[in-house]
Amino acid sequence: MEPGVLDDVPIGGRRPVTAAHLRALRALAPNADQLYLVLSVTHGPEVMSLPVLEKRVRAAGPYLLIAAADDLPAAMLPEVSAPAPEPDSPDAVSVWPARVHQPQHPDFGRSLGMAEGEQVVTRLSSLRGERRNAQTALRSLALARAVPDLRELEGGYARTGHRRGAFPRDVWHGLLAMEQLDLEPFEPVSTDAWRSGSGLPLGVLARVQLYTTDATGHFQGRAHSPHCAHQRHDGGLTRDYDLTTVEGMLHAERFDPCSKCGGYATRRLTETQLAYYRAAHDAVAQAGPATAGPPGHVGGAGLWVGQKFTRSPGVRPRVRSMSAGAVCWRWAAVMVVRSRQ
Ligand SMILES: [Zn+2]
Repeated sequence: MEPGVLDDVPIGGRRPVTAAHLRALRALAPNADQLYLVLSVTHGPEVMSLPVLEKRVRAAGPYLLIAAADDLPAAMLPEVSAPAPEPDSPDAVSVWPARVHQPQHPDFGRSLGMAEGEQVVTRLSSLRGERRNAQTALRSLALARAVPDLRELEGGYARTGHRRGAFPRDVWHGLLAMEQLDLEPFEPVSTDAWRSGSGLPLGVLARVQLYTTDATGHFQGRAHSPHCAHQRHDGGLTRDYDLTTVEGMLHAERFDPCSKCGGYATRRLTETQLAYYRAAHDAVAQAGPATAGPPGHVGGAGLWVGQKFTRSPGVRPRVRSMSAGAVCWRWAAVMVVRSRQ
C-alpha cells in the first residue's frame, strides 16, 4: 500500500482512500472494525464506521482517512473516576446508580448525562474484567459523539449473522441513557388533572434525540428501547429504529411504550441540556404545577409570567405557595440556563 493513505504523513501529503485500500485494511488490520474520522470535500469532517466508509467510497469518494478511534491519545480522553472496586467488594457501587427523584438533590438527572455515560462505560469494562479496554471504549465514545444519527453506527454483520460492531458494545451505554426523561414540566397545562403538565418551554431539550422501535404506534405491539429484554440484540441501535425528539414525543399521541423499558432510550444530555432539565424540575417543585390559565400564555406553553402558579389538586403533593415575583425569579433562572446554550 502506498504511503499517505493509512499512515500518519502530514495531512497535505495524504492520498484519498480507495475501495482496494479498505479491503486491505479489513484483511490485514486486527482491529479494522472501529470508528474513523474522515474528510471529504462534499461532507467535510465526519465520523463513520468501516462499512459506511466502504459504501461511501464505492459510491462517491474521495475520502481522506484522518484518524481511527485507536489513534486518539489517552491524554484527550475524558477523565474517569477511580476504577470501580471488585464486584464482590463491600465498596462496590452499582454500574447503574439508583435514579434520584428529588429535583433539589445534587444527583438529580445525573444518570441522563454524558459525564455519567463515561462513568458507566468505565464501570462496565471493569465489571467484565476488561479494565484495559475501558480506554478503547472511551476512544470510540469520543468519536461516536460526533455522529448526528446514531443509527448509522449499526455496523456490519458477520456471515454468522452476529453484529460486527464498530466499537465495544458498552459504548452504546455511553451514548444512550436507557431511561426516559420526566417531561411533566413541559407537558401543556390542561384542565385534565391526569394529563396536565406545567407548560414550561422545552428550550434546549426540544431537539434531544430519542430512539425507539416505534415512535408513532405504527407497528403491532409496544415500543421498546434498545436495552429492553424484549429486544434480542446487543443493546445497540440498528437502522430499523425510529429517531424522534423530545419535542416530537410530547406530541406522539399514539406512542405506546413497553412497561418494562419505557419505550425509548435518550441520547445522553450535554451539560447545558442537563442544567436546563434540572432547573425546570426544580422550578416546578418549588412553585407547583400550573393550572390551566387564561389566554396569553408565554410561548403558548402554559406559563403566564406575572401570575401565580397554583397547584393542580391530586397531581402533586401540596407545596408551599409562591408569589408571582418568586415564580418569575425561578423562571428567570431557567431562562438564564437556556440562553447559555
Ligand atoms: Zn421494552
